[in-house]
Amino acid sequence: MSRLDNFISRMTAQRDILNQICPEVAKMEGPVLELGLGNGRTFHHLRERLPGRRIVVFDREVGAHASSIPDTENLVLGEIRETAREFIGIDAALVHADIGTGYDDRDAVTATWLPDLIARLLRVGGFAVSGTPLDHPLLQRLPPPTSEPADRYFLCRRV
Ligand code: SAM
Repeated sequence: MSRLDNFISRMTAQRDILNQICPEVAKMEGPVLELGLGNGRTFHHLRERLPGRRIVVFDREVGAHASSIPDTENLVLGEIRETAREFIGIDAALVHADIGTGYDDRDAVTATWLPDLIARLLRVGGFAVSGTPLDHPLLQRLPPPTSEPADRYFLCRRV
């Protein structure tokens, strides 16, 4: 599969999962945490799907399209591993993490801290959606609601 095909497949799975769980998230209390603003496309999508919901966004720097930049009070700049720790206990309804690099060695380092951080940020019953696998005893993996292969994007629920 070409990198372009793989990217399209990943983005299709990402959108399918977010579209499926947003109505569930809308019924739940708690903010949404977006780990990795990037261009701001998924932030923009979540803002559309969850009107009025607080979305706190994390990145090293702002590189998003002008239409997709969060208010300063909901934008947290720095290394997510450090900055998001301040939000442990916030009882998020959804954490979306799109910080995979496509390099197995780098993503393996992220896998040493990201799942535990997400488990501590979520409320019980909250959802984690991630571009990289989240292996953690408190994160129950769910079958992704997409026709794309199951390893494209990951969905878990905090138990
Ligand atoms: N979902 C976004 C979108 O739809 O536009 C794309 C996110 S992009 C793939 C990943 C972003 O996460 C980059 O902007 C990068 O700077 C940020 N990022 C990755 N790892 C990070 C880390 N450990 N700390 C802070 N930011 C990080």
